[in-house]
Parts: sequence; C-alpha cells; structure tokens
Amino acid sequence: MAAKRTIAHLDMDAFYFSVELLRRPELRGEPVIIAGTSPRAVVTTASYEARMFGIGSAMPVFQARRRCPQAISVPVDMAHYREVSGRVMALVDELDVPRQRVSLDEVYLDLSGVRDPVWRMSTLVRRIAEAERLDASVGIGPSKLVAKVASDAEKPRGFVVLSREEAAKRFASEPPTLIPGIGGRTAERLERIGIRTLGELQARSVDQLRSAFGERHGPYLSARARFHCDSPVAEGEAKSRSVESTFDRDLGRIIEMEEVLAHQSTRLSEELRRRNLAGRTIAIKVKLDDFTTITRSRTVAEPTNDAATISHTARALLRAYAPPRPVRLLGVRVAAFAAPGAAVSQPVRGENLSLIAS
Ligand SMILES: [Mg+2]
Repeated sequence: MAAKRTIAHLDMDAFYFSVELLRRPELRGEPVIIAGTSPRAVVTTASYEARMFGIGSAMPVFQARRRCPQAISVPVDMAHYREVSGRVMALVDELDVPRQRVSLDEVYLDLSGVRDPVWRMSTLVRRIAEAERLDASVGIGPSKLVAKVASDAEKPRGFVVLSREEAAKRFASEPPTLIPGIGGRTAERLERIGIRTLGELQARSVDQLRSAFGERHGPYLSARARFHCDSPVAEGEAKSRSVESTFDRDLGRIIEMEEVLAHQSTRLSEELRRRNLAGRTIAIKVKLDDFTTITRSRTVAEPTNDAATISHTARALLRAYAPPRPVRLLGVRVAAFAAPGAAVSQPVRGENLSLIAS
C-alpha cells in the first residue's frame, strides 16, 4: 500500500484583482474586470462584485460589458503580478517541501510526513497576509484532487481539510464539473444517462460507466467522482504555455482542424508576446473521440512567438499525424522558453501552465 500522502493546494483569492486593489484602493467594492486591450481580449479576472453579474475568466470583454456596462476595466499588468507572485512563492519556498507551482497564484505542496501540516499552512497564509496584504485559500487532503476542490470550497479565505471519503460525501450534491478533468461535454453525456451530481456518478458501477464512456474514460470518471487521485506534486516551474479547445461536435476534416490550430496559434502568439516569452519547442495535442490522446512536437532553430511559425509547425505536425478518428480536442503548446533570438534554451521540466481557451 502506498504511504499516506498529505497534499495542500494554496490558491490566492482573486489574485490579480487583489494586487490591483493594493495600489488602487478606490476599486474596492466595485465590479472590476482586468482584461487585455485588444479588440478580441478576454477577461483575465473579475472582482467578486463583477462575478455577481455572471462575468468570469476567459469571457470576451464585449460580452462582459453587455452583462455589466458599469464594470470598471483595468489593463492587465503581468509584470507586476509576476513580481508579487515571486514574493509570495518565496514565502511558500521557506516551508522547504516539494511544491508545484501551477500558475502565478496557485501552488501544490507535498506535506507528506511533515508534522502538523494544518498549522504549517495556516502559518503560511498568515505570513502572506502580513507581508503582502493578500488573502489565500487552502485545501488540504490526501491528493491533489481533494486539495484543489477543497481550496475552492469556501473561497475567499477558505481553509478546508478533508479526507477522500469526506470529500466524496461533502460534494455529492455538486455537479460533476466540480471535478477538474470533467468538462461540460462529459457532463452533458452524463446527464443523458441520468447523472446530474457527483453522488449519482459515484453510485454507478464502473462496468456501467465503461460501457457508456469506454475502456479508459469510464473507469477514470468513476475514480475521479470518488476523489481517487494519485498524481504527484511535480516540482519545477511552468516552462510552457498552451491553448486548447474541446469542440461541441467532433471534427472529422483536416481542413477544419487546421483552421482551429491557426486560430489557436494566433492566440498563443499574442499571449507569449504579452509575457515576452518565446520557445523553441512547438507541440500539438490531439484527443480523439475514443479519448486516445497524443502529442507531437518539433523543435525549431530559434525561440519563437511568431503566429505564422507556430501555426505552420502545428499544422505540419497535424498533417504528419493524420488523426485516424474524429477529433474532440485540439491544442497548441510552445515550450523550452528562451529570450527571443537566443540560440540556446533550457530543457523543459515539470508540468505546464495552461491558458485554456473556452
Ligand atoms: Mg486564485
């Protein structure tokens, strides 16, 4: 039997917004959206007041404006958020345990074998509040999955400790999409067989789910619904960025897929330029209708964030792979970051920070 694990997930509360509030206190209590300024910009984050109007991350700005015309727009200042994040993560590092940073404001910590992990984490939250005047929520459990869902359960300033069994029970009446890895499309298919909650999903036999969702996806759903998860806290910084989309209907024609990749490459290029990043490895991810997932990558001569280069390479990779079945998800990734124009780059390591397209 595997040793008992204790995993914590620390998630800063409305991070970008809270950082902006520190230098613009007049925004407190207002519906605020932080977003890029291009015509097709999407909301990066929204204050809790703006979320009341149904505004969420990744929503196009024009749509957010329609839902809440009085919302105050603040331009994204990524350099500043990165700087504050660096100071927060330095406090996290003082715990001296394996940790996996998944974004500027989210980190997993592996506290297995550490004495009094609850006290350690509450001390960390207090120190962040004192040093940076920023709030965070924490979830603690036996896996990344329990920790992640627990950290979200009582935001803001949440602090939730759950065993796997407690998590399965506590969230039984929630929709399956509460679980990272169960998306809207899967939720629709679940609903068609009468499953609207995690509890209903837990109650189904693996065999039943296998026959409805296939050899791989069926057992996966069953395990996730009962909060089984053994993925490790993988150390290392995010060394890549990606854009991916799951489609409402599977794509069968290569020309449609190439169009998607071209569009994604443009978005990814904008994102990389905004962050002043360029990478030498360009990769695609393809998920087929039977949930087979493949990635293919190619290394280019020089670090790039050029939309045409990314798009050209991604489409060539897709044509070379020639998906044998209809495709339900496509994504493009750029990794192995180095300064634009630099000849040498660092190796890729750790998990990836994803910008997920809606
Ligand atoms: Mg957060």
